[in-house]
Amino acid sequence: MTTHKFGVVEGDITTSGCIICNNVGTYTNGYPQVHLGQLTMNAHRYVYQLLHGKIPPRLDVMHSCDNRECVNPAHLCLGTRKQNMADAVAKGRVPRGQLSGMSKVTEASVREIRELASNRVPQRRIALRYDISQAAVWKILNGLTWRWLQ
Ligand SMILES: [Zn+2]
Repeated sequence: MTTHKFGVVEGDITTSGCIICNNVGTYTNGYPQVHLGQLTMNAHRYVYQLLHGKIPPRLDVMHSCDNRECVNPAHLCLGTRKQNMADAVAKGRVPRGQLSGMSKVTEASVREIRELASNRVPQRRIALRYDISQAAVWKILNGLTWRWLQ
């Protein structure tokens, strides 16, 4: 494997041409995070900015390869958040319920949350367990979110 270096990010190139970030310690929503002093940002955004300058407001750096860990500049392009989400849904990356800003919750965890609640586990404890707000738990249990999931 060939190692590529972009600033503080290092990655190995795969057979598909993706450069998988390999020197990051943390991930948010599957995106490797770069730590620059106080600032934390997604590795692919960092690499894009390094090469192209500041990302215009309200634009996202999208992956043409769909690989969140990829930092290959050739696989990164700018798009609006709306395009990015539409693209993700079209490609099946984001289950419907996760569009509502509750990305930590998956279909499986919604089922578990309902199960826990039916076993009288307090909403506060459920919230802590899934690292979401109590309001988010309440919304799930009351069908304000994830209603479509039976
Ligand atoms: Zn890629």
